[in-house]
Amino acid sequence: MAMEYRRLGRAGVKVSVLSLGSWVTFGNQVDEESAASLLKIAYDAGVNFFDNAEAYAAGQSESLMGAAIKRLGLRRSSYLVSTKFHWGLNPGVNERGTLNRKYLLQAIDGSLERFQLDYVDLIYCHRPDRETPIEETVWAMHDIIQRGKALYWGTSEWSADEIRAAYEIAERHHLHKPAMEQPEYNLIHRDRVEKEYARLYEDHGLGLTIWSPLASGLLTGKYRDGIPADSRAALPGYEWLKNGTITAENIARVERIRPIADELGTTLSKLSVAWCLKNPHVSTVILGASRAAQLEENLSALEVLPKLTEEVLNRIYDALKPQS
Ligand code: NDP
Repeated sequence: MAMEYRRLGRAGVKVSVLSLGSWVTFGNQVDEESAASLLKIAYDAGVNFFDNAEAYAAGQSESLMGAAIKRLGLRRSSYLVSTKFHWGLNPGVNERGTLNRKYLLQAIDGSLERFQLDYVDLIYCHRPDRETPIEETVWAMHDIIQRGKALYWGTSEWSADEIRAAYEIAERHHLHKPAMEQPEYNLIHRDRVEKEYARLYEDHGLGLTIWSPLASGLLTGKYRDGIPADSRAALPGYEWLKNGTITAENIARVERIRPIADELGTTLSKLSVAWCLKNPHVSTVILGASRAAQLEENLSALEVLPKLTEEVLNRIYDALKPQS
């Protein structure tokens, strides 16, 4: 099925409704060669946005993606690439867990060097920084754009109040406004996107580039019979997934939607990815994949969209409710 494109909120730029991110995978499960083949599969399917962050694999993810893009010889104007700042790569007091001006203006240069690019398209404040005044961060993001090092800026997992404050500051000083937020959004994690941000779409034209559409793989149903040795939840350092996300209760909820996927003649993964796109405020769903077959499956999720009727959606929501 042909790829679809949506505007990034009120911004003029269009993103493919399915995009590809590199968290966990690039530099941990995926080397440069596989990274290039994943990017190629995505690009050939019409994906025009690749998501990254400074912190992913401590900078290695940006290097791998940059090398893969170069190897594939992708036309720079045909794709968008992102990065995000907050956690930092070095231990200094102004280099970690901050959105202060000093850190941000240096961080962008490091990312561009690792990507081997002159500019990135989207930059995000990866988390809020409750110590730095929002005004200082807004000015720094504006200045990065003014210097031609990025085109649009946004936030990731900021509260609605923080996003609104950033808009108001940008408006007051005629600065570049935040164009998009990057929140988690999937069948088991909905409130922030559907309730907390509800006013921001109309009021400010907020676009959404949503993450973990499969809740780190939970919504594929792959954890039904335990933790597969080659899955994310088995990776060292990702044990925390078993506490909050891949719990017995959530596995049971997913199993209750499996028959609905079967009936629609699709898979849990495709159903779950397509569901995210039913929300018109979602500009793009960022897919993650540790291997080609997963990406190919998820890229065909668009064919499921027409099957997600009101009646089917209500059955899914009933199945997900806690059972007494
Ligand atoms: P998902 O929730 O879709 O999880 C992806 C993982 O699920 C894959 O790496 C793979 O893991 C497994 N999987 C995917 N498809 C299938 C399939 N069809 N069959 C079986 N297993 C499958 O997305 P991510 O959590 O990876 O998030 C996507 C992107 O969002 C990230 O790459 C990143 O760019 C962004 N992100 C942003 C965050 C932020 O704070 N802004 C936070 C997190 C992500 P495996 O094979 O290892 O089991």
